[in-house]
Amino acid sequence: MLKNLAAYLYLLIVLFVISGCSNELIQPVSNINDEEIDADEISQEKAISAKMRVHYIDVGQADATLLQFSEKNVDFTILIDTGDWNATDVVTYLQAENIRDIDIIAITHPHADHIGQLDKIIDAFNVTEVWMNGEIANSQVFAKSLDAIEKNDVDYYEPKVGDLFDIGPLQIEVLHPKSMTANTNNNSLAMRMQYGDIAFLFTGDGEEKAEREMLSSEANLQADILHVGHHGSNTSTTEEFLKAVDPEIAIYSAGAGNSYGFPDSEVTDRINSSEILLYGTDIHGTIIVETDGITFNVKTHEQGTLPRSSSNGSCVDINKASEKDVQRIKHIGPATAFELIKMRPYHSVDELVKINGIGPARLKDIKEQGIACIGG
Ligand SMILES: [Zn+2]
Repeated sequence: MLKNLAAYLYLLIVLFVISGCSNELIQPVSNINDEEIDADEISQEKAISAKMRVHYIDVGQADATLLQFSEKNVDFTILIDTGDWNATDVVTYLQAENIRDIDIIAITHPHADHIGQLDKIIDAFNVTEVWMNGEIANSQVFAKSLDAIEKNDVDYYEPKVGDLFDIGPLQIEVLHPKSMTANTNNNSLAMRMQYGDIAFLFTGDGEEKAEREMLSSEANLQADILHVGHHGSNTSTTEEFLKAVDPEIAIYSAGAGNSYGFPDSEVTDRINSSEILLYGTDIHGTIIVETDGITFNVKTHEQGTLPRSSSNGSCVDINKASEKDVQRIKHIGPATAFELIKMRPYHSVDELVKINGIGPARLKDIKEQGIACIGG
């Protein structure tokens, strides 16, 4: 039933868009598939008087990124993904930022940790346009999202590879997907966003296959700021892709102590060894990149040190090690290990005293043993 309803709503929306009734805010300015535009030629290469702020919002084990900028007193607001379905943290964040209007919400793919709060956001804010990759999901959150789009008369658009949009001073190029596959992650919308000379890359949960497709295209993948694919999973951010993007900083979105083990140490090691500065919402909270189109700076909600390597060596990272590994630490048995993992994240080894059964004397022993660490 849900599937049929979703398909029906989807069809309605598609017909609505095709029929030309849609009063779309944004039209593609060109299509690279048709015209073969060199991305270097179209880069603006100048400072922009108003700054753009890109908020990588801490939404736990989910994704939501807010872009705010303006031109000639006109404000632009774009949201990429909408957090998890069982939370309202994106709604709260947008309200705290005094946002009323959202020009575009781009949903990279319809998994519940990306499309999660779309219906709530459409209900709470004045949303002009929603972008989706065109995949239909058989889920309640997807059906609710389509419902909200229809009920609130929100324009609906499915960007295609090569679409190029000028939104005030921001240029968006759609890099992926070319077509739908059976793998939802690999159907993720990928977009390169350029503000003056500074480029941002977003690939949703795209995995190696999506990265390979982008690499084999003619598109310019270089970006100063990389949003790390698939929450830092080792399914993504391959060596070749990272090399092509060649970012100065990389930011992943993951929940502290998440059960998937994101970010994967293979990925963080790869990023660290490429001398790319790495930030994560699990460690730094919300991360805000501000740019004038020439330079950028990074502000984090929380101070934190990211693990520099995995916990396979002699040091046991108390924020990341498995239940079995943490038992290598003195006084940590099975029950305490469970408690230790539950109380994550820790900002220092000293915080192990938060655990029931670890007092100052035992902490002293643990520190003397010297294998418990943050990072590695
Ligand atoms: Zn995800």
